Amino acid sequence: MEVDKVVHLPRLSRVAVCGGTHGNELSGVYLVKELLKAKNVMKEDNDDEERPASVLMVLSNPWAMQQCRRYVNTDLNRCFTHAALSGPVSKKDPYEMIRSKELNALLGPKGSPEAVDLVCDLHNTTSNMGLCLIAYSDCDWICLHIFRYLQRQMPDIPMRYIHLDVSSKESYSLDSVGKHGFAMEIGPQPHGVVRSNIYTTMKHGVQHVLDWVRFYNSGTVFEGGFVDVYTTVKNMDYPRDSETGNITAAIHPQLQVQSEMYLHFFIY
Ligand SMILES: [Zn+2]
Repeated sequence: MEVDKVVHLPRLSRVAVCGGTHGNELSGVYLVKELLKAKNVMKEDNDDEERPASVLMVLSNPWAMQQCRRYVNTDLNRCFTHAALSGPVSKKDPYEMIRSKELNALLGPKGSPEAVDLVCDLHNTTSNMGLCLIAYSDCDWICLHIFRYLQRQMPDIPMRYIHLDVSSKESYSLDSVGKHGFAMEIGPQPHGVVRSNIYTTMKHGVQHVLDWVRFYNSGTVFEGGFVDVYTTVKNMDYPRDSETGNITAAIHPQLQVQSEMYLHFFIY
């Protein structure tokens, strides 16, 4: 495609890679631990190495990770609204409400000039949906260009860009604390388990994101183009017992893990 316009955007000086926002989604947990280890080794070996962007590795919900649970008291990835972040701190608050304020102090404050430039929050899903970038914006050029770069670098991995359209409601997840941000959701992987292929895909995905940031910060011009963006059409609940509310059906075997038919049944 012909490039007819070049847009200059500010450099991305501070990038955060977060894992364990959901404590039982283990690819991100193990990857951030590995990157932290590698970073310490690098620090010792290459103290004066030039670092174009500072990369923060964050284990978001250590208590849930320890218990291998999605969360302890409440879903951390729903705690990043302005109202939740600006409320008074009390020791009686749910653990994740306290933790979200700590993360907002570390990576934000959300919506402020001090916030990190980019948050990449790592998640797994049991759904067979390949690698998805999930973002609140369908026109964030940083996120869209990163996605295109990943598509080119990892042509064998099914990849989709999902616009999480909250319309008039406010963004609520950890990636919304950065100036730009997305969740990288990869599946299928059962919760509480690491599958080597899913882990490796995430590792390569994060490496390519950081490579892209380096190219971007060094002034590379990226050609324009098109990205297919998926969004929610409707939510479908399971059939339920009208009295108890209990789920009364399971996914049909011919539909289970059929990623080409559905981007189905994922909770990020
Ligand atoms: Zn998750």
